Amino acid sequence: MIADAARSLAGGATSNWQIAQPQAVWMSHGQGSHVFDVDGNEYVDMHGGYGAAIAGHGHPAIVEAVSRQVARGTHFAQPTEDAIWVAEELKRRFGLPLWRFANSGTEATMDAIHLMRALTERDLVIKVEGCYHGHHDSVQVSVLPEPEDVGPADAPHNVPGNSGIPGAIMDLIVVVPFNDLGAVERALATHRGRIAGMILEPIMMNAGIIPPEDGYLAGLKELLHAEGAYLTFDEVKTGFTTGPAGATGRYGVTPDIVCLAKALGGGISVAAIGGIEEVMSAIADGRYEQVGTFNGNPLAMAATRANLTHVINSAGYARLDALATLAKKGFERHIAAAGLPWRVVSVGAKGCVAFTGSPVRNYRDFLEVDDRWGNLHWLLQHNGGVFLPPWGKVEQWLLSVQHTDADVELLIANFGKLTEVAGH
Ligand code: PLP
Repeated sequence: MIADAARSLAGGATSNWQIAQPQAVWMSHGQGSHVFDVDGNEYVDMHGGYGAAIAGHGHPAIVEAVSRQVARGTHFAQPTEDAIWVAEELKRRFGLPLWRFANSGTEATMDAIHLMRALTERDLVIKVEGCYHGHHDSVQVSVLPEPEDVGPADAPHNVPGNSGIPGAIMDLIVVVPFNDLGAVERALATHRGRIAGMILEPIMMNAGIIPPEDGYLAGLKELLHAEGAYLTFDEVKTGFTTGPAGATGRYGVTPDIVCLAKALGGGISVAAIGGIEEVMSAIADGRYEQVGTFNGNPLAMAATRANLTHVINSAGYARLDALATLAKKGFERHIAAAGLPWRVVSVGAKGCVAFTGSPVRNYRDFLEVDDRWGNLHWLLQHNGGVFLPPWGKVEQWLLSVQHTDADVELLIANFGKLTEVAGH
């Protein structure tokens, strides 16, 4: 299959991040909390399609909604009633009055950055070192830079996150460390009157899991507003996986713009961007044209409505919390038994192990975490029947509402094989 694929698919997969470690796993199908590869291997799926499959696979409510909508038409490039329902629900959860839809997290963060620039008529944007916001030019800066490229901790270098990113665009990004209000204050002072806003993951989730320290998110909002700049939370990964209103709800800080995708659509590709009236008025009156052929398409809206109603509701979160507690306790038991300094970082349906005894407050601390344990963990889980995302120390597991206690017990048992090795 892999050799066949390489004859017509560049690199033998449909995204470079499907080829990671050690190769693409060709899937046949998914059912409930499990996925099945083309060789007949069955895995408990905790990869979750990079954090999207919070509904698991073939969830009856999603199947029903999508099947119904397919029969009634999947695309008109005109809005359908479900879009109003979804926008109202997002408004209720995130406390932001106006919404638009797109198709991927990349599109949502691109719109957010365009909006901040359009409204302020300023070009510079502050970005956090180690945050990933998709693959458009403005955010492909200092995503997962190598230690030798990062420069001094208090003045990080701008490192391109991909080839093909023009230097002129990179120069419009000011990179700061996470959890450091002083760095943002200095950036705003150095570039006074030129900063349009700041984008960050409110809980860093492309460097393991790094929560914000007390007062950090509220402090950012205050500093940026004092300079007439906007704050965007990229909740593409944290929205819905960390709670019904993501980190916005968890920490009680409402930014000017929120970006959502991944777990929003119950497994169907969809993104949303919500904002305060002042920001979204630029869309409403046409100063900023937020567009896209498939934006808010009926299929995505039907799936999203079903997901918000029947999957990520209060019963869904109660179930996810119970599973997360089970996982955390089991992992902690193994860590303690092996006398290791590691920590389990668990936020809602997302969790990972910080393979270190030192605090991890930002990307520089994360760089110190040993890669090897994460990679071996991935392999032990894979061979033990649990499918995790690749890049052991970077990514997290995702629990779905369809996981069983037995699924989580298998995850814990496989982790025990790692602590046995590491504890020696
Ligand atoms: N923002 C964050 C925080 C992400 O983790 C990702 C994807 O991993 C994106 C944006 C980009 O989303 P997409 O892959 O849907 O374009």
